[in-house]
Amino acid sequence: MDFTLNDEQKMLIDTIRTMGEREKFRDLAKRIDETAEFPWELLKKYADLGLLGMTLSPAHGGGGQSALNAILVIEELAKFSPMIAAPVFESSVGPVRVIDIFGTDEQKQAVLPGVCRGELSVSVCMTEPEAGSDLTALTTNAEEEGDHYVLNGRKSFITGGGHASHYMVYTRFGKVKGYKGIGGLLVEKGMPGFTFGKQERYMGLHGMPSCDLFFDNVKVPKKNLVIKPGDFNKLMLTFDIERCGNSAMCLGVAGGALNEAKAYAMERHAFGRPICEFQNIQFTTVDMATKLDAARLLVYRAAAGAGQGLPSMYEAGMAKAFANEMVVSVTESAMQIFGGYGYSTEFPIERMYRDAKAWCVAGGTIQMLKIGTASMIYGRRFDQRRSSS
Ligand SMILES: Cc1cc2nc3c(=O)[nH]c(=O)nc-3n(C[C@H](O)[C@H](O)[C@H](O)COP(=O)(O)OP(=O)(O)OC[C@H]3O[C@@H](n4cnc5c(N)ncnc54)[C@H](O)[C@@H]3O)c2cc1C
Repeated sequence: MDFTLNDEQKMLIDTIRTMGEREKFRDLAKRIDETAEFPWELLKKYADLGLLGMTLSPAHGGGGQSALNAILVIEELAKFSPMIAAPVFESSVGPVRVIDIFGTDEQKQAVLPGVCRGELSVSVCMTEPEAGSDLTALTTNAEEEGDHYVLNGRKSFITGGGHASHYMVYTRFGKVKGYKGIGGLLVEKGMPGFTFGKQERYMGLHGMPSCDLFFDNVKVPKKNLVIKPGDFNKLMLTFDIERCGNSAMCLGVAGGALNEAKAYAMERHAFGRPICEFQNIQFTTVDMATKLDAARLLVYRAAAGAGQGLPSMYEAGMAKAFANEMVVSVTESAMQIFGGYGYSTEFPIERMYRDAKAWCVAGGTIQMLKIGTASMIYGRRFDQRRSSS
């Protein structure tokens, strides 16, 4: 078993780190949080550096790189802020991968090159007001009519909502109940009857577009069918790549908080000594580093196992749940090391804590991931609908 990154991967991390320092990403992260404005100019920069569509197929302008390489870049950028890493996340491990893996040639040609140039982006649209964890209860509906589907329904909390050019919509087809009736349709911004709600205001991740989507008799051409009903598992399998990206965000935020806390502990004095000389600060720091490393091993295992394809559900689910809990714990410990300054908006730690909390829900809650992992451990399904009484 080889736990070392290869030279190319080490160089990739180094390049990202140098760029972050040169471009003053630490200051940019603070500015994005304060203004809640996304720095769209990053897209061109990242496209020029080949950081968009890193994992997408080269035939359509993608980098053809491994999931692990994209994870390494996301982690390094998220040390500054998840917003700064977001374009790499969206274009390399986001829902565009569903099109890359399962789409028709026409769909790929229409979307992938534009994503790699930073001109197009794809949002994933699963959650509804009455169907979050209970995803298979979704009621958004597509009815077949001639050469198109008529789409009706509403989606909530859609990252990229209002900004993205394309929306991978999980919808029920006809009246088929449960997961067997669910498939994926690609809906384009501007289609008549497709509108957006007001932008969400979150505790963290300021600057990330997000809103509800409304479909009112939207005519979606049949050629936009990406995943046919009955192939719901394909949607979920591809979503496991996104879960690795979510976990990489956690590694980055936790790594950023650990770096800040370490530097602060060496600088800050109490009782006439730098606080890093107190054993409790040392033990706290060691616990933070240990949890981060443990999460990193789980995330890298899942991503390395995926290669250029799909990760194992077991590995991706376990990695995300662990990384989600880890990042909250590590950023909270960093706040304690900073004392009163950790609670001040002058320092980045409170932002990192706010950003950390998002990942425990986005991409599926920790609880739902553990339910999925439990099924795999016991080798049987645990029906959440059945009453235990
Ligand atoms: C920052 C952010 C970004 C997001 N981006 C997107 C996006 O781009 N696209 C998208 O489709 N969605 C997105 N979401 C929505 C997210 O996927 C859902 O919020 C999530 O799946 C939970 O659904 P819910 O909010 O309806 O909570 P609910 O399903 O109502 O759950 C509420 C609580 O009950 C728990 N719970 C529910 N059922 C069980 C059970 N059987 N056993 C134990 N506990 C249970 C949950 O774990 C949770 O703690 C985003 C959310 C956030 C916060």
